Amino acid sequence: MFDKILIANRGEIALRILRACRELGIKTVAVYSSADRDLKHVRLADEAICIGPAASADSYLNIPALISAAEVTDAEAIHPGYGFLAESAEFSEKVKQSGFTFIGPEADTIRKMGDKIEAKKAMVASGIPCVPGNGEPLGTDNETNLKMAKEIGYPIIIKAAGGGGGRGMRTVHTEGALIGAIALTKSEAGSFFGNDTVYMEKFLEDPRHIEIQILSDSHGNAVHLGERDCSMQRRHQKVVEEAPAPGITEEQRKFIGERCAQACVDIGYLGAGTFEFLYERGEFFFIEMNTRIQVEHPVTEMVTGIDLVKEQLRIAAGEPLSFTQDDIVLRGHAIECRLNAEDSVTFMPCPGTIDLFHMPGGPGVRCETHIYNGYTVPPYYDSMIGKLICHGEDRTSAIARMKTALNEMVIDGIKTNIQLQKDIMADNAFAVGGQNIHYLEKKLGIN
Ligand code: ADP
Repeated sequence: MFDKILIANRGEIALRILRACRELGIKTVAVYSSADRDLKHVRLADEAICIGPAASADSYLNIPALISAAEVTDAEAIHPGYGFLAESAEFSEKVKQSGFTFIGPEADTIRKMGDKIEAKKAMVASGIPCVPGNGEPLGTDNETNLKMAKEIGYPIIIKAAGGGGGRGMRTVHTEGALIGAIALTKSEAGSFFGNDTVYMEKFLEDPRHIEIQILSDSHGNAVHLGERDCSMQRRHQKVVEEAPAPGITEEQRKFIGERCAQACVDIGYLGAGTFEFLYERGEFFFIEMNTRIQVEHPVTEMVTGIDLVKEQLRIAAGEPLSFTQDDIVLRGHAIECRLNAEDSVTFMPCPGTIDLFHMPGGPGVRCETHIYNGYTVPPYYDSMIGKLICHGEDRTSAIARMKTALNEMVIDGIKTNIQLQKDIMADNAFAVGGQNIHYLEKKLGIN
């Protein structure tokens, strides 16, 4: 196992990684921007280094600064967390070239999965069901493109191969709009992502977002840890996540999970990862793979009892998985509410100083946050300030526990989305479960 690692991130995930390291006896190096001196994990880490000014481009995205920090502190490995450089093939490559271990997959894997066309090809080859559409780059021949769209059937969606963050996509409902939409998406993709390759696939109108968590080691072992339902979204951003997904049968879980685990073996995947699917009328359709730990990983931990961050560290250190697929048993139900510093009406981020913070507690309640009394949320980064996760013997008791925990939680001094989360927990349709990805926006009166 490593003696010391560098945590190339901030906020709740940096603290989460630090805690896992402590339990495994690994020393930690925290890196921080000049706006983040007061972060909780910076104070708890064995060593801490300022890597630049507040702007992410100059600090958390600054590869030479991060590598220098690892060099001067003698760290052996770098954990990228999520966001920032977590899915940068260049970062993975530079970390390795500089003699450190990247806690995540190889650069080639990150690059391949970051290209939606390449990823889709790899999935088809491994027998993973994908959204209808051949996934080939679109050429400039209008006739061919019109014919292809007709075969798939409208509505269709034009997507940028290099797209991300919910950008670089355009839905087309009628034949007349197709050619213009392809040209527009292509030119936008070129300027946003520096890659103007686009492809087309069927636009699913009533999907849920269901994703499969996997772990894959360097000895050819891969397992799946069941699914998460992340359909409660606003502007393609997840708001509530849960595991298992309501209504998914053991048979469906096994079918899709085993295929994902096999795909990991096929592509030589290393570490923790997530296969994201749209789920409609009983069928799964792959949309993308995330080659990192995800924000919502705790719901899977709560139902499996497996610490995903510790597993990432063990896999990166070359250890084989200590359990097999048969050892993974799902127990009860877990729900996660993301806590954001934002206005409840406009959803604008609301940074500022927290005057009072009371963390909820009790059986099955887990609070992942870096905030504390007197902490100032800086305006420079994502507005997520933490996550509240509740586990219960079934979905109904998990919801009841979440309601109790949300009522107990006090965050004064800044605006938060706690009320929105209370509203979702009290929503009748949410209580039934299985709503589609448009449900929350409809409830909020958006669209
Ligand atoms: P990104 O990398 O930008 O997150 P994804 O491919 O994961 O892009 O898609 C983001 C979101 O866009 C999905 O969660 C879904 O809401 C919508 N979307 C993508 N592809 C389709 C599709 N074929 N049909 C319907 N919605 C889609």
